[in-house]
Amino acid sequence: MKVIIVGAGIGGLTLALFLHRAGIPCAVYELAPEIRPLGVGINILPHASRELAALGLEPALSRVAVLTRESVFFNRFGQLIYREPSGRFAGYDDPQYSIHRGELQNVLVDALVERNGKHAIVTGWKCVGVDQDERSAIAHFCASESGEPRPSQRGDVVVACDGLHSVVRKALHPNEGPPIYSGVNMWRGVSVWPPILSGASMIRAGWLAGGKMVVYPIRDRVDERGRQLVNWVAELQTARHKTRDWNRPGNIDDFIAAFEHWHFDWLDVPALIRAAPSILEFPMVDQEPLPWWSRGRVTLLGDAAHPMYPRGSNGAGQAILDARALVDALVAHRDPIEALKIYEAKRLPVTAEVVRANRKNPPDAILREVFERTGDRPFARIEEIITEEELRAMSDAYKRVAGFDRKSLSARSQPIQEET
Ligand SMILES: Cc1cc2nc3c(=O)[nH]c(=O)nc-3n(C[C@H](O)[C@H](O)[C@H](O)COP(=O)(O)OP(=O)(O)OC[C@H]3O[C@@H](n4cnc5c(N)ncnc54)[C@H](O)[C@@H]3O)c2cc1C
Repeated sequence: MKVIIVGAGIGGLTLALFLHRAGIPCAVYELAPEIRPLGVGINILPHASRELAALGLEPALSRVAVLTRESVFFNRFGQLIYREPSGRFAGYDDPQYSIHRGELQNVLVDALVERNGKHAIVTGWKCVGVDQDERSAIAHFCASESGEPRPSQRGDVVVACDGLHSVVRKALHPNEGPPIYSGVNMWRGVSVWPPILSGASMIRAGWLAGGKMVVYPIRDRVDERGRQLVNWVAELQTARHKTRDWNRPGNIDDFIAAFEHWHFDWLDVPALIRAAPSILEFPMVDQEPLPWWSRGRVTLLGDAAHPMYPRGSNGAGQAILDARALVDALVAHRDPIEALKIYEAKRLPVTAEVVRANRKNPPDAILREVFERTGDRPFARIEEIITEEELRAMSDAYKRVAGFDRKSLSARSQPIQEET
């Protein structure tokens, strides 16, 4: 058995590590000429951090991430709506990590190279298509910079982990349209800033119609003053947007007006935004869930299979869960075609529900509810607007859909620990 993996993002790298643990050879082909720490903040919730711990990555992740302590919700006047503990602070066995996406990718790359050797990842190879015959699956490549053809690679299975603009997804589903814009544009940055609230708080504030902020630290003590790297996302409803490119520079003048008066006693939002050395812009997009992911020996994983709005901290997490499920299926079923079917049956319906929940009722639906009930005005006491039970029920409902409520996590089979 040999697996060809297209894409060295979070999904492709995690898949390679699980395959290594199962003793299944694989090779990873990545479009980028070198793996550079791109992106900004990302959250890994306990359902996914548990899988990374099983791969022996907890010590490396703890060194570069912040262990998120709580999730807190405010209106745009800085008034507290709801607070709940996160990760281990909420009694989970595993932590929630707030981490720079590039740091997470580095941890995965380092582990893979250490375990599989420095040729484990081939960079600068762009997948241009896939094929299969009765005995194998074939991925075709060209050099990503020159466009010169590269030798096609043959394996028992090809897994496309090539993200939102997946060429393999397009080949399998040629009539699908481009990613669907949600009506919300996002601007993101990272600022060096003193600890906010608990120093490990994931903050959501405001609502999309007038402007929403997500703020959380992703690295502790980055200078002698004990400041942190703080990731922020400004989200605004607007028809104006461009194609998603993770490296597209953004302009502060396009969104700062919505946040100019957000001076809270616990955070000066415009000052935090202005402290970022650079700003990235991208639209909030997803795709309609697909009816199927696998054709014979070829399948999809992660964003290639189920791009979703980043409103529930689940994009990377679901890719990690896909990787675990796919390797479990390959180990349990000797016929790779059968294994891909089992994987798809397990993961497609669940992830489709997460895509839909992220559209309608992600965790920040709490903010929408309060926005609507107050008519976007300050409140005297939050209890007069919404009860603690209602808020908790909304938060818990999302956890159940995304598979990180404590009950379903403890019911899930324990991952086998990596022997390193
Ligand atoms: C550059 C970048 C920055 C990101 N920044 C953030 C962020 O700041 N915050 C956040 O929450 N999420 C971010 N994401 C998305 C997040 O990482 C994913 O949603 C999630 O981790 C799912 O991972 P994935 O492996 O399925 O897809 P991705 O992480 O998108 O990885 C896909 C990989 O496939 C490679 N690839 C694409 N096409 C081809 C091809 N034809 N041939 C070979 N390789 C190919 C890409 O270069 C990439 O390395 C970013 C993704 C990328 C690629």
